[in-house]
Amino acid sequence: MLSQLGVACLVIEADEAYCTGSRAICVSRRSQEILGWAGADKALVETGLSWEGGRSYWRDTQVLHFQMPSEPTQRFAPMVNIQQYHIEAFAHRAALACGNMADVRFGHRVAGVQQAAGGAGVAVQVVAPGGEQHEVTASWLVACDGGRSTVREKLGLQLKGTQYDGKYVIVDIVQKTRRPVERLAWFDPPSNPGSTILMHRQPGDVWRIDYQIRDDEDPAEAVKPENVLPRVQSHLQMIGEDEPWEPLWISIYNAKCLTLDSYRHGQVLFAGDAAHLVPIFGVRGLNSGLDDAGNLAWKLARVINGESSPGLLDSYSTERVHAARENIAYGAKSTEFMAPPDFAFRLMREATLRLAVSDEKVRSLINPRQSSPISYAASPLNVPQTGQWANDTAAPGEPAPEALLAGRDGPVHLTRMFGQDFVCLVFSDGVLPDAVATLTRHGIAVMEIEPDADPTGQAYQRYGLADAQASGLVLVRPDGYVMGRWRGLDTTPLLAAMEQLR
Ligand SMILES: Cc1cc2nc3c(=O)[nH]c(=O)nc-3n(C[C@H](O)[C@H](O)[C@H](O)COP(=O)(O)OP(=O)(O)OC[C@H]3O[C@@H](n4cnc5c(N)ncnc54)[C@H](O)[C@@H]3O)c2cc1C
Repeated sequence: MLSQLGVACLVIEADEAYCTGSRAICVSRRSQEILGWAGADKALVETGLSWEGGRSYWRDTQVLHFQMPSEPTQRFAPMVNIQQYHIEAFAHRAALACGNMADVRFGHRVAGVQQAAGGAGVAVQVVAPGGEQHEVTASWLVACDGGRSTVREKLGLQLKGTQYDGKYVIVDIVQKTRRPVERLAWFDPPSNPGSTILMHRQPGDVWRIDYQIRDDEDPAEAVKPENVLPRVQSHLQMIGEDEPWEPLWISIYNAKCLTLDSYRHGQVLFAGDAAHLVPIFGVRGLNSGLDDAGNLAWKLARVINGESSPGLLDSYSTERVHAARENIAYGAKSTEFMAPPDFAFRLMREATLRLAVSDEKVRSLINPRQSSPISYAASPLNVPQTGQWANDTAAPGEPAPEALLAGRDGPVHLTRMFGQDFVCLVFSDGVLPDAVATLTRHGIAVMEIEPDADPTGQAYQRYGLADAQASGLVLVRPDGYVMGRWRGLDTTPLLAAMEQLR
């Protein structure tokens, strides 16, 4: 993303290549948009398996069939399953396509970090594959070195929060299947009584199977193939998957709800698992890391290009720490359902599942509520809206809604405009005043939306303009969040809001 914004960077990566093992697979619609800004969406969509919903079973009875919000006019599916190593490869390839702005050094490890006084830069000690050490100095360091972050440790910082005891075995297996792509969950299935099992298809005939182990089981024993394979076989047999199969990866997982209190420490910024750890249930780990990247990239680019003071980066921390806390709250709820931490939670879950067999109203309690973008309603960057708006779906701090518009060359998704510059959405049915048309001189892209360009009415409705005669300006940040909105076509307050970013 930094490459797309014209910022050169050096990436120090300890591994010799892209990640291996069982890592993220479920990529949200929002993450697909963000990867689109980096130029990595096409390969992702072509390789991934898209899906829209799932089923949950209690013992051998289906108790939930959920659908995620989706409509045929959407640009991306609500979720795509794809191995994390593919995502890393596509993002790397996209960065290289931007004229080698990102210099990725595989097999190099960060061993030390020192910040110069007064924001004068960061010195980083790097160990090369042969063991020789050298020092790199940089204006800014983004620590995205994962859950065991060396940078976090070197700065003496600690994640805070809770860690759950319940443990899951994560198994990826290779097996052909004709089953539709869905999220599948079984509670107390006959194949593995007392356990909870999750299944997801992945590209390349791979299944991800997660199952909970008993509290009294030794995790080291639980991951031994002789203990894993019979459980997997029993489950595959129960659901009628009888093609030959073999294991690919086996590991153990327990949920953590941890975050740093601040993601900016001088010239060092934290992102992804280095900044926060959220449970895998609800798939908010990689997805929230990509949101960190989307939020940080444009702010860092503005600061590096001298368009904003470093203070802008404090808003990265405020917004993303808030998002992490929200994600943690959702993730904790899902974890407590998937792996009840004590007798009371177990009893409540059992009662819910029992009731859900016959009572449709209870079923929403089982809904896994997958990752979705977090609103920044209290962001310091928001500008109070002026005038009357029909709804709050595009209020300042909200993710800017999608809309399918009529473009000159056919239908076009509004979100394609985001990811690079500030965009002013101009809702107007008439000739634009010069002041609006010339916003581009201030580095703001102008997207005129006349009623004729909005044949489905999605844009006018979702951006809160009740009737097509109404006019208004909506300022969307490069990361696709609404910063402010004003009725009428006076650009003065909008330009004043942009000045605040300096
Ligand atoms: C079983 C499992 C399933 C998951 N499923 C999902 C899912 O479906 N959806 C989802 O959104 N999330 C999921 N997650 C979470 C997701 O994998 C993580 O949130 C995500 O990988 C975080 O990305 P990251 O880049 O911050 O950290 P990482 O992916 O951990 O990458 C950190 C990188 O830093 C490198 N590094 C570490 N130390 C150093 C050093 N000293 N110097 C240089 N480099 C270093 C590492 O080699 C690594 O490549 C899952 C996690 C697990 C374990």
